Amino acid sequence: MKGKTHVIGGLTAGLSVAYFTYTDPIILVSASVVGSLIPDICHSGSRLGKNLPILSRLINFVFGHRSFTHSLVFLILTAFLVDYFFPNDALKIGLLAGMISHYILDMGTKSGIQLFFPIDFKVKFPITTRTGSHAEKLIFSLLCLVSLYLAFQVFSLYIYTFINDFNISSALPSIIIHN
Ligand SMILES: [Zn+2]
Repeated sequence: MKGKTHVIGGLTAGLSVAYFTYTDPIILVSASVVGSLIPDICHSGSRLGKNLPILSRLINFVFGHRSFTHSLVFLILTAFLVDYFFPNDALKIGLLAGMISHYILDMGTKSGIQLFFPIDFKVKFPITTRTGSHAEKLIFSLLCLVSLYLAFQVFSLYIYTFINDFNISSALPSIIIHN
């Protein structure tokens, strides 16, 4: 799948989690977009690979493409590292949601992913598509629609709560002055 499909997949995943959990949507959704790009660090032509070329080449050289960084082991390792260095639930849930969305999208491609790395077994859906195909464009468009709907739901509630809180707190001093 192309980088932009992964980004919109990560966005949809983050918004879905925020929609059901009411967890801080700004941190969660930003983290899920970043998380959706992390697994392709093993690919030097990817967005993240271009920004971190040495690390990307090193991972590709040691593990190959779509193996370690597309596995459950990497997912669990990321969760531990985030807990240790940046303990924040919204950040962790967002990153993992984005990464899982990446795995799911790549499982819809012919080459699949090595989900149970180091076991050399490719996991993919019974029906797959090719990168850049019409099916991928359709998936991209559907994900755009779903994320637009979810973004409206999640952020309208967030903005409403924010304005309400602001009104209450800014009203307090005037009440005190009048008394
Ligand atoms: Zn990938």
